[in-house]
Amino acid sequence: MRTFNTIANLRTFVRAARQDGKLIGFVPTMGAFHEGHLALMRRARADCDVVITSIFVNPSQFGADEDFERYPRDLTRDSTLAQRASIDALFTPTVDHIYPAGDRTTVDAGDLAHRWEGEARPGHFSGVATVCAKLFQIVDPDRAYFGQKDYQQLKIVERLSMDLFFGHTIIPVPTARDADGIALSSRNAYLSPEDRRSATSLFRALVAANARYVEGERDASVLRGELLCVLEGEPRAKVEYTAIVDTESLEPLDAVTDKAVAMVAARFGTTRLIDNTLLGQTMGKRAENGRAKG
Ligand code: AMP
Repeated sequence: MRTFNTIANLRTFVRAARQDGKLIGFVPTMGAFHEGHLALMRRARADCDVVITSIFVNPSQFGADEDFERYPRDLTRDSTLAQRASIDALFTPTVDHIYPAGDRTTVDAGDLAHRWEGEARPGHFSGVATVCAKLFQIVDPDRAYFGQKDYQQLKIVERLSMDLFFGHTIIPVPTARDADGIALSSRNAYLSPEDRRSATSLFRALVAANARYVEGERDASVLRGELLCVLEGEPRAKVEYTAIVDTESLEPLDAVTDKAVAMVAARFGTTRLIDNTLLGQTMGKRAENGRAKG
């Protein structure tokens, strides 16, 4: 595995691969790898000739009162895991590379960014869209892999790629979960043991709503009631939103007539977690091949 920390060197590598006619897969991340990241890398490895993973903790997607400074960073462990996942290249730019002095241009992600995470985290999706546009421009992949765990982000990135004519395909990858159902997230590391137990309520809420959907319930307020019922039964959970939304517009639904996603966000202690499921989709617990070991 090669590691590049400058844009120029990474571009030289990509250009050579492209000249050889290779199919290039890209997995953008903020590092602190867990099985969710590795599932993306494995999928890219299975699909593509050359796989590039970036690690960049993007300051512009963190709010002033968020955890940019304390976000977990461990390049040595991440490099080992990326190597074991047979990644070809790790791209680890610095903040100055991505946002050099004088940098001004940002990407507005449009109305998909207004609700849910966008409302709770003003500026977050502009930061995500801006860094994705920059990384896509640098890496110029054929395919880019994103987790369904961050469903709103996935939809925004799909739109960004189409609207700015990047010409690559966005591949969604199912959410990897721990044995207790919790969606793997670098932020789970912040949870106290009590909050960790309590945070399984996000998964339990989604399972309950999904079960009602599978039984035939299509009234979105009833399905949303299932989400709330589980979360409100959990004293440590501070619920931020529960929603049943259209899979593409992310607008809340009255009745589920076509595909819908159930989304939840809650705080456990100081840690804010999100989760979602496509209604009607089986919700597997255990992450494929177990957890990432460092
Ligand atoms: P992050 O490092 O948190 O920015 O995540 C990098 C990529 O990994 C994003 O596309 C996320 O959606 C994806 N991801 C994060 N957690 C999971 C998970 N539990 N399962 C699948 N993909 C995930």
